[in-house]
Amino acid sequence: MGLFKPKWQHKNPKKRITAIEMLEDQELLADIAKNDEDFMVRMAAYKKLGKEDSQEALADIAKNDEDNLYHIIECGSYACTERVRPLPGLVGWEKVPQPIFGGIEMVYFCPSHVKDGREKSKVTCKHCEKTVYLSDKPVGWDYVHTPAGTLWFCPEHIEENREYISAQWKNFKWPKGEDD
Ligand SMILES: [Zn+2]
Ligand SMILES: [Zn+2]
Repeated sequence: MGLFKPKWQHKNPKKRITAIEMLEDQELLADIAKNDEDFMVRMAAYKKLGKEDSQEALADIAKNDEDNLYHIIECGSYACTERVRPLPGLVGWEKVPQPIFGGIEMVYFCPSHVKDGREKSKVTCKHCEKTVYLSDKPVGWDYVHTPAGTLWFCPEHIEENREYISAQWKNFKWPKGEDD
């Protein structure tokens, strides 16, 4: 004893997670859940304890997590610096569809900017200029890709424009490169 570190102290977090699967000692698990330096390991310990959704777990997981930036979501509002981890129990943040070049992107907004996000989810029918919010899940609205970008159409105008635009594409020639 003492010569070998137990597996749950392995320096590779992945190995620690594997070791946690085998652990039954609740006290030890609770200790790892609170104190392991790696977010994924703490989460694994909470899972093994069956408490991954508890308030306690959320609080512990949320602390000291600069090491796991890839898990963090940022508010989609320009110049907002709110960042958070999208865990169960996260209140006020919302995913709002945003029209982007090429279609729709789901973007998170913080509680103070959800309204802005909804405002920016507005699209306009290229044909009749009717507008709608994508966040209201409008039925029948759709977009088409054109050589000039993404165009939105209302349900009344989407079909005829789809045809018109596919005809445009047929006649469209990609610009030739310099060395062609
Ligand atoms: Zn924000
Ligand atoms: Zn229209």
